[in-house]
Amino acid sequence: MKLITLVNELLDYGLQKNILDEIDFDYSANLLIDLFQEKNFRRIATTPRSIDEILEDLACCAYEKGIIESDDYITYDNFKAKTADMIIDRPSGVIKKFYQLYQINPHQATDYLYKLSKGSNYIQTKRIKQNIIWHHQTEYGTIELTINLSKPEKDPKLIALQKLNPVSQYPQCRLCKENQGYRGHLNYDSRSNMRIIPLKLAGETWYFQYSPYSYFDEHSIVLNEHHIPMIVNRDTFRKLLDFLDLFPEYFVGSNAGLPIVGGSILNHEHYQAGRYHFPIEKAKEIYIGKVGAVDVSRLIWPLSTIRIKSADKEGIIDFAAKALDYWMRYENPALSLINNATNPHHTLTPIARKEKSIYVFDLILRSNYTNALYPDGVFHPHPELYHIKKENIGLIEAMGMGILPGRLKKEFELIAKYLSGEEAILADKSLEKHHHWIEKIKPKFSLEQDVDLFILNQAGKVFSQVLMDAGVFKMDHAGESAFIKFANALYYK
Ligand SMILES: [Zn+2]
Repeated sequence: MKLITLVNELLDYGLQKNILDEIDFDYSANLLIDLFQEKNFRRIATTPRSIDEILEDLACCAYEKGIIESDDYITYDNFKAKTADMIIDRPSGVIKKFYQLYQINPHQATDYLYKLSKGSNYIQTKRIKQNIIWHHQTEYGTIELTINLSKPEKDPKLIALQKLNPVSQYPQCRLCKENQGYRGHLNYDSRSNMRIIPLKLAGETWYFQYSPYSYFDEHSIVLNEHHIPMIVNRDTFRKLLDFLDLFPEYFVGSNAGLPIVGGSILNHEHYQAGRYHFPIEKAKEIYIGKVGAVDVSRLIWPLSTIRIKSADKEGIIDFAAKALDYWMRYENPALSLINNATNPHHTLTPIARKEKSIYVFDLILRSNYTNALYPDGVFHPHPELYHIKKENIGLIEAMGMGILPGRLKKEFELIAKYLSGEEAILADKSLEKHHHWIEKIKPKFSLEQDVDLFILNQAGKVFSQVLMDAGVFKMDHAGESAFIKFANALYYK
């Protein structure tokens, strides 16, 4: 397709999706022709396709014209983001519109930003749709699993190019507010088309944005304006509830602030939020009692969790802070719950949501203790499960959604062939790490079964064990009774 037609198609797309204002049409058209080193623009009526198809064709044109030097996916992605940036509002315009809609109600404001984030291809809906998603029944409820395929695999040519490209120190990390509008380079994904919204949490300036990976509906990130480390303390509880006061339809949670039990980014304080109900919400509650205006329960869930509910914001913050303090000092050497006053091992993964006017906190107890037997973490997936999940069990996983590495798609396909009779495939190098598992699951498989479903089901069992490994009070007799004592002590304190 001719360049001028594609430029018109992108502009028509912007108008149709309501992300390009009619008033800005000529301005955006001129930015676009300049980007493609053209001097003339001509209006042609088009019927726009999806944003991904339009941007892909425009990136091909740019490559053919020598405007971009390489056709690797990062250079293409960064160019596509820059192109999309030319049809959307500047940050100040987006913030103004967001808060105008917020005056009507928060739902309209988040809806606007979410649609803009998808419409501008900042959230790459087409790629995210490739993820493999399934559910798995366990004794404690149904968990959700995703094989993450939204990031294309790097080919050797790209890896070689990246080695030649210097690593920059700006922005300081992927979460810093300075990412907004950043064009990116071979070692850094562009954030040209990202828009973030300032807000106040406990008197501090924070920013709200959608996650480009979108693991669940309206998956968002809330980030501190400063590049400061993750921490879970009394202020965290207040900030989470302040967020809920602004966006009562969302849940919000923080990763723990310690290595092993924290998420992948520990150096920038941030939360994750979204319009989504995770499996942990449906976990069975065992009611303990009422402390002041706070109802206290514990959950039947592989990661030991205290649930507290109250309409009293100060009361629930006080209780959460008390629970954190008590857990940070708690020890039970028989269960490897060993603490260290100077270098604490215990912390919480707190998750908050609102049920009408009631605040609900799920406080997940975490420990990053290591010993000679488990140098990567006693309460971390144990080594025999690394073939499926080796990464930290962060907030999303702790709530019952396993995000599994993209390599598993190919590896599961090979295992399926092996189970269906192609014996020689077992020699494939990528299956080495799965050998002990294949040996274990093979006798359970018969050729009448659907082999793909069988493998996903077995992988679900592995992930369920991953969650059990991360739990501090195990779901056995010794663990249960210690957890009951811990929870009761909190209640009577
Ligand atoms: Zn940062």
